[in-house]
Amino acid sequence: MDLLSLEEPRYLLRMFLQHPLSCLGLARYLPINVGDIARRYISDPELLRFIDIECYCWSVVPANMTPMINAGMVFSDRHYGGVNYPKGGVGQIAQKLVEGLEKAGGTIIYKARVTKILLEKGYAVGVKTISGDIYHARRIVSNATRWDTFGKLLAQEEIPTNEKRWQQRYQKSPSFLSLHMGVKASVLPSQTECHHILLEDWNKMADSEGTIFVSIPTLLDPDLAPHGYHIIHAFTPHWFSDWNGLSPSEYNTRKEASAARIIQRLEKIFPGLDSGLDYLEIGTPRSHRRFLGREDGTYGPIPRRKLLGLLGMPFNSTAIPGLYCVGDSTFPGQGLNAVAFSGFACAHRIAVDLSLTKRQP
Ligand SMILES: Cc1cc2nc3c(=O)[nH]c(=O)nc-3n(C[C@H](O)[C@H](O)[C@H](O)COP(=O)(O)OP(=O)(O)OC[C@H]3O[C@@H](n4cnc5c(N)ncnc54)[C@H](O)[C@@H]3O)c2cc1C
Repeated sequence: MDLLSLEEPRYLLRMFLQHPLSCLGLARYLPINVGDIARRYISDPELLRFIDIECYCWSVVPANMTPMINAGMVFSDRHYGGVNYPKGGVGQIAQKLVEGLEKAGGTIIYKARVTKILLEKGYAVGVKTISGDIYHARRIVSNATRWDTFGKLLAQEEIPTNEKRWQQRYQKSPSFLSLHMGVKASVLPSQTECHHILLEDWNKMADSEGTIFVSIPTLLDPDLAPHGYHIIHAFTPHWFSDWNGLSPSEYNTRKEASAARIIQRLEKIFPGLDSGLDYLEIGTPRSHRRFLGREDGTYGPIPRRKLLGLLGMPFNSTAIPGLYCVGDSTFPGQGLNAVAFSGFACAHRIAVDLSLTKRQP
């Protein structure tokens, strides 16, 4: 089945006529969360906790708040496609997209932070960058989070009512504290796996520093580190508010103390980690905000309370004519495959709106 804009009725009709049962199956799961299904068939508390962390590790909420559609994508992708790692590091994904965009005649302007989306008679017509440059276009697409798009790039009085309602349903997830470590290869026991999740107490799964996620990319791609060394990336949820308003020395002290706690816990799976540490870079929620341009460094939107699956997640068009949103603040949410889907769904929606397709993919 092609996956294009779910806002395009002709595409939906065509898909329904071609694959009626698959479409009905997808529609059935749209308002459902993983926990609803799990609790219908499973009563073992340990197994339910395990399903919670299976969801939490990418949705940052437990199973009863995780939409079934996202889980279907993530679980299927993991098991049928396997875990994929881009050789050269994740930056390669962006590099390949740049190559494709330029090949298609596009231009990318780097270090051009947009500070304002320009409206004319309520219609989005352009953007203004931090250097004061103005760009006009027939359609404007924001890849910033909804809190940035509708809280900073547009003035308060320009924010549509439905966006205010969305913010009542969804809140910002926490950000992360990240440890980027260079370690001696001897730190890793033989047959070490690439990915680990460390959680000592189920009740602390969603707390700051409760769950620690670990990736060791050099096990798949040894060229990323000098011979005899590995890279360990360990990260754990942390709230921006715990890092805001600190003096530089308080900030550094907190960074060092948090890193020491994480390293001490990781010693359980990597004995000798502390003494084998060759390099350490610590990223905080402030780093996430600064380098990713995301309000409070958030990982993305999470429901404020249990919602009906993905029904409340907006598609790409917005209440402001000419303005579209894309990325993890749109259907179907966070994760690379989800945001890639929202990207080509948005491109399809715009192509139809500009009559660049025959209203059919
Ligand atoms: C530690 C960590 C681990 C993760 N691991 C995985 C994983 O293993 N698998 C997975 O699928 N997903 C993973 N994710 C999630 C995934 O990275 C995100 O869901 C995804 O990158 C979100 O894509 P996006 O395009 O919506 O936003 P972003 O990736 O944040 O892209 C938005 C872009 O817009 C730019 N921007 C923002 N504001 C402006 C502005 N005003 N002007 C100009 N440019 C602007 C930013 O610089 C950025 O380049 C992880 C995330 C984190 C933080």
